[in-house]
Amino acid sequence: MSDKPEKLITDDGLRLDGRRADEIRPMKIEVGVLSRADGSCYLEWGKNKILVGVFGPREAHPRRSQRADNAVIRYRYNMASFSVEDRARPGPSRRSIEISKVSREAFEPVIMTELFPKTAIDIFVEVLQADAGTRTAAINASSIALADAGIPMKGLITSCAFGKVDGQIVLDLNKEEDNYGEADFPVAMTQDGDITLLQMDGHLTPEEIKKGLELVKKGCKEILEIQRAVLRKKFETPVEEPEEET
Ligand code: ADP
Repeated sequence: MSDKPEKLITDDGLRLDGRRADEIRPMKIEVGVLSRADGSCYLEWGKNKILVGVFGPREAHPRRSQRADNAVIRYRYNMASFSVEDRARPGPSRRSIEISKVSREAFEPVIMTELFPKTAIDIFVEVLQADAGTRTAAINASSIALADAGIPMKGLITSCAFGKVDGQIVLDLNKEEDNYGEADFPVAMTQDGDITLLQMDGHLTPEEIKKGLELVKKGCKEILEIQRAVLRKKFETPVEEPEEET
């Protein structure tokens, strides 16, 4: 790991990657990239690279996992061993189990599970390259993959973190900021702004949290626009001009 830079934010208010406090990293999304999945998404956010496959609704196995009135949502977050600087140990870890749980819960309020009793909806997340903010990136990608699979949802889920770096509240921390910053606060929300995930690592005052949540709202709005544009492009069928009568 590199040493702590003297300053993470310059006197001009620029961060090491050139962003201002309220800017998210560039995001690139491809939809429908896996032919065997019902829905899929590949997302790059800064240096994060995430692949998501969604399967289902399909009969839940083992049968004892079925629910009579609902579909069960299963979310598996996995980091490829080559996704981080030092090799990540393969298999589930406390961290990946926690991320899988909170991410599943972030989707539960919007997925209309009551339409598919006894089935399972599987969301598989593979982190191919990690640079801080992988849980938020994975949630944004999963939202697209679920829509691509045609899973009925009340709306998209959008996710972004804020944090504290050199005493300042900033949006969407990168790895250096995450390593040397004072706090990281990932959030996910519905398109109406209802929060479905909220975590905090570090120390923040109530005023800092209030300011950070304002930034996150702005970030999520921008991400929602990107998600909508990608889905519009995928699903919009060109309107055929009626043939002229002769
Ligand atoms: P998130 O990726 O959602 O921000 P964390 O705050 O737990 O989750 O992790 C921050 C970053 O630390 C990750 O994005 C990744 O770059 C790095 N990291 C996480 N786990 C490991 C690991 N096992 N080995 C090396 N780096 C890791």
